[in-house]
Amino acid sequence: MKEDEFMSPETAVRVIDALDEGLSEINRIRVHLYGGEPFINLPAIEAMVKRAGDKKPGRIGFVVTTNGTILSDAVIDLLEAGKFDIVLSIDGPAEVHDACRKRVDGSPTHRDVMRFLETVRSRTSCYVTGAAVIRSGWRLLYASEYLRTLPIDNVKAQAVRLAAGTPYALTEEDMKLYQQDLEAIGRQVIKELEAEKVPMDRRFAGRVMKLLIKGEGLMRYCDAGKSNLGITPSGVVKACLLVDEEDAVLGHVNDDVEVWKQAGLKWQERPLRKKCTSCSYLQLCGGGCPAVVPVCGDEECKIVHKECDVANVIYEHFSDKQENLLGLVGIV
Ligand code: SF4
Ligand code: SF4
Repeated sequence: MKEDEFMSPETAVRVIDALDEGLSEINRIRVHLYGGEPFINLPAIEAMVKRAGDKKPGRIGFVVTTNGTILSDAVIDLLEAGKFDIVLSIDGPAEVHDACRKRVDGSPTHRDVMRFLETVRSRTSCYVTGAAVIRSGWRLLYASEYLRTLPIDNVKAQAVRLAAGTPYALTEEDMKLYQQDLEAIGRQVIKELEAEKVPMDRRFAGRVMKLLIKGEGLMRYCDAGKSNLGITPSGVVKACLLVDEEDAVLGHVNDDVEVWKQAGLKWQERPLRKKCTSCSYLQLCGGGCPAVVPVCGDEECKIVHKECDVANVIYEHFSDKQENLLGLVGIV
């Protein structure tokens, strides 16, 4: 993020007001801050948390994705005040993490991340997700096992989304291992659900819930444009910050909320890609992530197919005790 792209505290306040006003049909709004590194702009986050405090209790919640390198009393106090859910980037042990995540001066960051995690654990009640990016040469299963050794609540480890052939993108061999590892994670989820525990890895939850409710009609991959919105530092409202299409720009937080709401609904209704309309995974996939599919193409579909297959295995496993599946949404 360039310095002139920092969100001002005034815009931050307007974001909270606009979401409160525009998403009146949603009980609890979650504002997810990611970047760049969000903690380089504390005044905007402070302004958001303060404004959220003026709304109905519990109406606005916060999530932040951070690289864990900015640690101060102000950051910790803000995390606790906003009751943030924290998504902390930790790719793996030091040698794996530090190979890609360095400061501008080239120094490693794994030790800083561990210090951040310890401090968050000892001084806040925040829910913490450990998030690893899986790249060529680093397996999903190894990342998942490593994250499970840390004092975190939730494991999130996903393949880097890059075009095939670019540095760090999974090779064909990496992809095979990734798919095998998804099966292994599925078996682990079954074990946890059998033990009536909330699984640490929730990646299959959405698809298992789709199978459980046997919903009629097509459910899109995500609610981008409808109840998921992206807002840029200058206050432009988009269907999702990661989607580059021109029509994904819906309006501005200073507009009448109906402007971006109606544009978002229209965007959500756009036609599916031709390839998706004849895909046997469509019902469970919903047409793929509009930000990732244009970049990764068929490689993304390979991951989606396996995730759908594993979701089916989990669902079938509990066909005579479906109540156990509620563990996937945190109900045990
Ligand atoms: S798996 Fe791929 S082709 Fe099939 S619906 Fe999803 S994005 Fe479309
Ligand atoms: S378009 Fe993709 S990245 Fe954006 S909200 Fe939907 S799933 Fe997430």
